[in-house]
Amino acid sequence: MAELAILEKVKDLLPKDAISRVELEGSEIIVYTKSKEFFQNHESAVKEVVSTIKKRIEVRPEGNLTNDEEATKKRIMEMVPAEAGVKDIYFEPERSLVVIVAEKPGLVIGRGGETFRAIRSETMWVPRIERIPSIKSEIIEGIRKVLHKEVKFRKKFLNDIGKSIFSERKTNRDWIRVIALGGFREVGRSCMLVETPKSKVLVDCGVNLGGTNGGQYPILQTKEFDPNDLDAVIISHAHLDHCGMVPYLYEYGYKGPLYCTTPTVDLFAMLCLDYIDVMQRNGVAPIYTAKSVKEAVRHSIGLDYGEVSDVAPDVRLTLQNAGHILGSALVHLHIGEGMHNIVWACDMKYARTTLFEPAFTDFSRLETLIIESTYGGEDCIMPHRQEAEAQLLGAINRTMERGGTVIIPTFSVERAQDVMAILVENDFQHPVFVDGMIWDATGIFTAYPEYMSHTMQRKIFNNEDPFINPIFKRIASPADREKSWKEKPAVILSTSGMLVGGPVLEHLKMLAEDPKNSLLFIGYQAEGTMGRRIQRGWKELPIRGDNGRTATVPINLEICTVDGLSGHSDRNQLLSYINRLGAKPSRVLVAHGEVSRAVDLARSIYKLFRIETSAPRNLESIRLK
Ligand SMILES: [Zn+2]
Repeated sequence: MAELAILEKVKDLLPKDAISRVELEGSEIIVYTKSKEFFQNHESAVKEVVSTIKKRIEVRPEGNLTNDEEATKKRIMEMVPAEAGVKDIYFEPERSLVVIVAEKPGLVIGRGGETFRAIRSETMWVPRIERIPSIKSEIIEGIRKVLHKEVKFRKKFLNDIGKSIFSERKTNRDWIRVIALGGFREVGRSCMLVETPKSKVLVDCGVNLGGTNGGQYPILQTKEFDPNDLDAVIISHAHLDHCGMVPYLYEYGYKGPLYCTTPTVDLFAMLCLDYIDVMQRNGVAPIYTAKSVKEAVRHSIGLDYGEVSDVAPDVRLTLQNAGHILGSALVHLHIGEGMHNIVWACDMKYARTTLFEPAFTDFSRLETLIIESTYGGEDCIMPHRQEAEAQLLGAINRTMERGGTVIIPTFSVERAQDVMAILVENDFQHPVFVDGMIWDATGIFTAYPEYMSHTMQRKIFNNEDPFINPIFKRIASPADREKSWKEKPAVILSTSGMLVGGPVLEHLKMLAEDPKNSLLFIGYQAEGTMGRRIQRGWKELPIRGDNGRTATVPINLEICTVDGLSGHSDRNQLLSYINRLGAKPSRVLVAHGEVSRAVDLARSIYKLFRIETSAPRNLESIRLK
């Protein structure tokens, strides 16, 4: 294959005698140098090239310039202060990288990047720094191991992706359309295809946990859709209704990249592996295997907020904070050279929460906005955050006073960590049991403080990490679960959030009969779920006994619902988000909401802002240009 024009151009712009080769890793250009001098002092030369070609460039030394590995390890340990807690240093000689695994990455980087630069220039390796989560996370360890072990595969894969991104695909036509493949006029199985004459990009690919008869999955059996044709798959965030179907794509032939933030990769893998387990436990044949989840991880490309990355010849991707869950992102797609800009804002929170900053608004260009409507209806006004927190603490304390247990059903990565942070902030002193996956998810939280709010970051960096507070006790086995029922008063945080399976049903089975206890809903309860039924007044909990027969447990415990802690925006927040956007969109598509709420929000947006707005149905194709 002929060298790509972009690589030739970079070579031409840099001093010939210093450069040995130029390669692509995804959309990043990697320049290998044979000159020690150039590696140590290339900033200004490279800066100029970057401003000409508008692509990211990293300079790395050729393997024969890097120092001996053992000597490098020793030198790094001398240069980095002991408080940084460096636990491991390993090498990827194929890419001239040294990975430093530390408890406090900030201290490895040093003030203004001083230590980092010194390591680079003295050892002649390019440092990468990984944070050790303060709660041990097997998922993170597993994923990092996979990516490290697969360094040869990754190098080739990233190189191939780069070639595809910068390939010339000739066309004399210009059009853009999006196709709604799931999650339109409903909550669940979010999926949208963005298509131009040159490329196809899939945004989200989720499952609907409450769905039946094929309504669980996005509609992928269409003429337009073939996983082999996709240039990229992008996940906005790690909720199963946005990412649960992604491994299926790898099971059926997709071999391309998966773009999302780094915490999303970890949470996504954790949730999909659990989803396979849940299907098996329910006697359903899983729609994909753990191998496909691993395939997705092998093909993942983690991006930070604000990092611009080409993902197809005419599509440039930027992820921005969505304020919804850890690592959640608004997906900004820049199509063509200034032709059209799309923002996918499903899901998002436009308000400050304990853990996150409000969703990003500062887009300089935006023509089409796709926005969620989970709480978009006229009736969806949530109480203020402070009020909601007071309600939450009120309900919990009331139960504590009568010596009961509060069961809080929650998604593992939505409000659980929020509740944990609120309890610590309010100096809560009773034991809080954290069941199964919520604990694992919390471990992932502790690896990425930079994805949280400024206040939370400050706390974590000042050694006041709320998640490692001793009130939290992990439930890791049935025996732990039994113990949690005996210790009173107490709080139990458990999945699933809508009472569709998961350990929360075990807790409920044991604790439902005693009126001293309470069941506290803090999240959205979808139609058709046990959570919604109990909220509506069901007084009996059906349970399957060991003999296979169904019995019932009377529900006598107090049922409370606290609104306003949701990771979704309410109607006012959705409308004020549109109002505050840096660029006014010329079209809004309303998605991710029950029919009446989606339609209602669409109507209001049109009335208030005079923007062309609609609430498309699944399978509708909308031409944007
Ligand atoms: Zn979500």
